[in-house]
Amino acid sequence: MSEIKDKDLAAFMNGVKRRNPGEPEFHQAVHEVAMDIIPYIRDNEQVKKMRILERMTEPDRIISFRVVWEDDKGNIRVNRGYRVQQNNAIGPYKGGIRFHPTVTQSVLKFLAFEQVFKNSLTGLPLGGGKGGADFNPKGKSDSEIMRFCQAFMTELSKYIGPNTDVPAGDIGVGAREVGYMFGQYKRLTDRFEGILTGKGIEFGGSAIRPEATGYGVVYMMECMLATKGDSLKGKACAVSGSGNVASFCAEKLIELGAKVVSLSDSGGTIYVKDGMTSDNLNWVMDLKANGGRMSECATGFGAKYYAGNRPWALPCDLAFPCATQNEIEAADARALVKNGCIAVSEGANMPSDPDAIDILRDSPVMHAPSKAANAGGVAVSGLEMSQNSLRMSWTREEVDTHLKKIITNIHTQCVDKGKDKDGNVDYFKGANIAGFDKVANAMLAYGAI
Ligand code: NDP
Repeated sequence: MSEIKDKDLAAFMNGVKRRNPGEPEFHQAVHEVAMDIIPYIRDNEQVKKMRILERMTEPDRIISFRVVWEDDKGNIRVNRGYRVQQNNAIGPYKGGIRFHPTVTQSVLKFLAFEQVFKNSLTGLPLGGGKGGADFNPKGKSDSEIMRFCQAFMTELSKYIGPNTDVPAGDIGVGAREVGYMFGQYKRLTDRFEGILTGKGIEFGGSAIRPEATGYGVVYMMECMLATKGDSLKGKACAVSGSGNVASFCAEKLIELGAKVVSLSDSGGTIYVKDGMTSDNLNWVMDLKANGGRMSECATGFGAKYYAGNRPWALPCDLAFPCATQNEIEAADARALVKNGCIAVSEGANMPSDPDAIDILRDSPVMHAPSKAANAGGVAVSGLEMSQNSLRMSWTREEVDTHLKKIITNIHTQCVDKGKDKDGNVDYFKGANIAGFDKVANAMLAYGAI
């Protein structure tokens, strides 16, 4: 990370690091926001006096618990589960659950902090939280996944509720895991209530929830291109990842006439110069649903396969990082700029590291941060909560119309708060300030609590 020149920012970050030792991902997420907010609030005595930014970087609470479960061989296994309830100033805590061996308190604090700003940008009454466990679902049987989800929910159920905290999926948690957790909650409490989103359509899920994050990332790109009088038609799109977000991002790109030239997993990247067909994409989605690896695409439909897990050195017009945090570093950002990429829409959370952000900020590349670009998932989760409260189900078309409106509105907020005097838009700055304002105003209204 480059040296911090702003004295107020440096002092603030020193405090964050002192209070949260050994949490690099959290420091990074806070720095990414504070570098825009500290100058923004410099002359706002009320916000400074009430220590709003300091309060926003301190989670309301963190719940950490033991998760004990039995594997198929009868061995007792122990994992650590968490729920970070970051901020409920504008609504119940809302944010996904991640099951991945790299889950730590620092990772979940970074995600929960980001979630507060993202949820604020949606315009829906949603606070921010995040949870998960250092459990590795890879290679586990269906029964093992079920037992783990049940053990996890047995503890988590004490801290969530339809008006308190409503988790959803994230890496390693899809419809199957949400189903197991919802079933366990119902068994424990005997209540059928909307305590999770991303549920199966038969038991309170919303149309378009699985697709929403990936579709929203593409809608954000359409909005950015429209500001230049441009469209997705014929554009070569590098997409990373091959999970939920990447697959539906690729599906929408193909539908709208763009060329998806890559997908990846943690092992490697496939390259299809003329763009994947819908059949190719369906083949990949089936493959991944059955635990397959991207390397198998070379024999499956003749894609080129590279062992490196990043597609950013490939020629592309548009980039969609949809795998994981810090997957675009300085060298990747330089390659994107050099190869003439015109815009990046972030599907994964915090996929660009600070050096990459600086490089893209100094280039003509339009760059929508994850808190704006991938808000479609939580937005439709918010709509799922509304449908659950109303005891109604909306059609795909109705939900998609809401989703498009929400993303367009987020884009407008980024432009309003991020445009400089020459008309250039800094989407990071715009998203940070717009997300901050709403939460800060609510916290000011509540006084010192
Ligand atoms: P999935 O578990 O469905 O997929 C994750 C994908 O990323 C897999 O293809 C995985 O490959 C790949 N991956 C993981 N680590 C790496 C790596 N180091 N290099 C390359 N590929 C890697 O997760 P989601 O699609 O749900 O989530 C992806 C990102 O989007 C995350 O950052 C998540 O927080 C974010 N997000 C998700 C939302 C949702 O609604 N699901 C909402 C908003 C944000 P492999 O199979 O090898 O592990």
